[in-house]
Amino acid sequence: MKFICVGLNYAQHIGEMQMSRPEEPVVFMKPESALLRNNNPFFVPEWAKQFDFETEIIVRIDRLGRGIQPKFAHRYYSEIGLGIDFTARDLQKKLMAAGQPWEVAKAFDGSAAVSNFISKDLFASVQNIDFHLDVNGECRQQGNTRDMLFSIDEIIAHVSKYFMLKQGDVIFTGTPAGVGPVKINDRLQGYIEDRLMLDFEVK
Ligand code: ZN
Repeated sequence: MKFICVGLNYAQHIGEMQMSRPEEPVVFMKPESALLRNNNPFFVPEWAKQFDFETEIIVRIDRLGRGIQPKFAHRYYSEIGLGIDFTARDLQKKLMAAGQPWEVAKAFDGSAAVSNFISKDLFASVQNIDFHLDVNGECRQQGNTRDMLFSIDEIIAHVSKYFMLKQGDVIFTGTPAGVGPVKINDRLQGYIEDRLMLDFEVK
């Protein structure tokens, strides 16, 4: 499986990153070795100074597909979850300033924390879902999927032009504003609406 991730998909996050609004989804990938699940701890690597959480709605692909039209994209997934796209922010900024790919800052081992998946039919619309992250019991990041610049179906249509989607692939749909650094012994608890989806520690 692979992770396909979208950056800069919420206007307020683009503002906090001092970036400009993209005309097409900004896409990057993580390999299977990035997977962090079962609420296992996130171990802070030693090779960068600042690791940020990015809390995101994630989508699990159910069916093989390529060149999917937006109007058919909903047929390719039935479950969503919550993920954290861990990012070595200092390293990412350095790589971006040098005009280099940011892969190592985004796709390293354990950088994709993933919850269990739940049926999208639990929600009236996948484009109106509240989600938030508590750090040590305090709400630090919140968003609603209605604020995405590119909807889940638009993302699927876009990425399937370039990459064959396979059953089990996971799409990270972008983070709202409020990203911030983690430190050792933080407890991260992520929610979709009022449902606890992620609960793990930073070590
Ligand atoms: Zn992200």
